[in-house]
Amino acid sequence: MGEFELIARYFSWPCAGPGIVLGTGDDCALLRPTPGWDLAVSTDMLVAGRHFLKEGDAAALGHKALAVNLSDLAAMGARPLGFTLALALPAVDEPWLERFSGGLRRCAEAYGCPLVGGDTTRGPLTLSLTVLGEVPAGEGVRRQGARAGDDIWVSGTIGGAALALRARLDPSRPPVPSELERALDRPEPRLALGALLRPIAHAMIDVSDGLFGDLGHILAAARAGARIVVPDLPVPPALKAEDPQVLVECALSGGDDYELCFTAAPGARAQIVAAGRACATPVTRIGAVVEGPAAVALVDAVGNPFALPSGTRLSGYDHFSA
Ligand code: ADP
Ligand code: MG
Repeated sequence: MGEFELIARYFSWPCAGPGIVLGTGDDCALLRPTPGWDLAVSTDMLVAGRHFLKEGDAAALGHKALAVNLSDLAAMGARPLGFTLALALPAVDEPWLERFSGGLRRCAEAYGCPLVGGDTTRGPLTLSLTVLGEVPAGEGVRRQGARAGDDIWVSGTIGGAALALRARLDPSRPPVPSELERALDRPEPRLALGALLRPIAHAMIDVSDGLFGDLGHILAAARAGARIVVPDLPVPPALKAEDPQVLVECALSGGDDYELCFTAAPGARAQIVAAGRACATPVTRIGAVVEGPAAVALVDAVGNPFALPSGTRLSGYDHFSA
């Protein structure tokens, strides 16, 4: 199968949507953002063997490749316009392409983000997606902007995907409930919540590398610290039942959560709870921004220092550290 036939068969589903003037098939796609809105652009690259396993479920990979990019739009308070897909394939594996493009397409349709173009070449299995979105001019919610005294919030639950990954990599561990498998394989970008938080949040980021590391970016930008109440962290029941070290490691530096972490004034609490309710996404207050160096103090329910189990390793996942 040639390159053009492959694109026509697997990556040329109907492309329409607000903002799309022309989709795949020409020299460029043409997009027309809403007048007075800023274009939001984000790229992610996924390399087989590093970010996913070739042998894994290709439909889940298709979903996740787009979902994690959409999560970046969500964290800006942006809405999707479309995306491009650059694909390197070692060979034409039709069953794989069928499943991959199916998962990708279902995610694209679920979140209203059409595929508007891309590039296809032979090479080691690698995907690179660029999502294009839009946000009212000047209103994109940045990592920068947190203030001492802000509450710190997180959406959904955290640590579940990390626990599922541990179970998958270590056969001596018990299997995890299916909703945690789902959290790992099929994260749902918090686009609706992100848009509702746009006028409320002072700073926002999506939690992809672990809460500890990603909140660290907000703190570094604010030159402020944080106090996090460990028992308030919203973790799934299966993780709550784990030993404290696994619990804390998964919840604070596990990664792959794709939840939103944001700060806001204490006066906005009722508004934030209402926003969560409006889009059926739980939101939990987990601590506060405090004056001082960009460090996180972990405390227990009564505000005493939280004693980390000895041997606990906490860090944001860094691709160049290993
Ligand atoms: P060019 O030579 O201008 O780079 P290509 O021959 O690479 O164009 O691609 C032809 C058309 O197919 C373009 O519109 C391009 O955006 C689209 N395309 C190529 N690969 C993909 C892909 N993996 N997914 C979606 N569209 C693709
Ligand atoms: Mg090309």
